[in-house]
Amino acid sequence: MSDKPFFGDINENIKAIEYNIGEARVKSGREHDDIRVMAVTKTVPTERVNYAIRRGFTLLGENRVQEYLGKRDAYDKSAEIQFIGHLQSNKVKYIINDVSLIQSVDSISLAKEIARLAQKNSITMNILCEVNIGLEDSKTGFSPDNIKEAVYQLSEIEGIKIKGLMTIPPPQSSNVYLKRMQRLYSDMRSEHIPNVDMDILSMGMSGDYFDAVLYGSNMLRIGSALFGARNYTK
Ligand SMILES: *Cc1c(COP(=O)(O)O)cnc(C)c1O
Repeated sequence: MSDKPFFGDINENIKAIEYNIGEARVKSGREHDDIRVMAVTKTVPTERVNYAIRRGFTLLGENRVQEYLGKRDAYDKSAEIQFIGHLQSNKVKYIINDVSLIQSVDSISLAKEIARLAQKNSITMNILCEVNIGLEDSKTGFSPDNIKEAVYQLSEIEGIKIKGLMTIPPPQSSNVYLKRMQRLYSDMRSEHIPNVDMDILSMGMSGDYFDAVLYGSNMLRIGSALFGARNYTK
């Protein structure tokens, strides 16, 4: 009775997500690992986002600068915001002082622009390098073959700090790519590159978060499994 009917679906979804993650943790022997779960907010009304925040989803993932700017004042202030969508260099200025991490750094030139604006604002911006693990034309990101060189190059730039890797695997035969990504992340960790904290592996969305836990993800980005199917016409 305490929850408005409008949000009842979110409660049910949270139960399912927590149950599934729990099962995946047990299956992979990761009961005690830190695994963060982000609420992906694209197209979701702010009241629903705020409800998820109150239910413990204090980390929000934003895809679109314009949409975020229209919603941010209505978000509960306790939420941590990270950017996860493709970011154009000319829009970095709108989010540089709002977000704690930009997960979707998909080119050297974007990273340089983030670094430039971070320095201008006297901050260091945390970033993840996005890997196009399936080498899909439809996706941006560093190729698995270039990622090591890119991380070395970016590690020397003032104003940004690499915290790990992010990926959106191809929807088909996702597990092959989750596994490749796990190996790539592990290889990158063992490089021990100066000024790089290779601590975050961000992979796993509504359709593959269970498997992503099995393959070592420690940052799940969940949208529709939490809020329901997206309504793009709105
Ligand atoms: C939309 C989106 C998600 C969440 O997708 P769902 O399948 O709805 O969970 C995660 N990551 C990124 C980068 C996204 O754009």
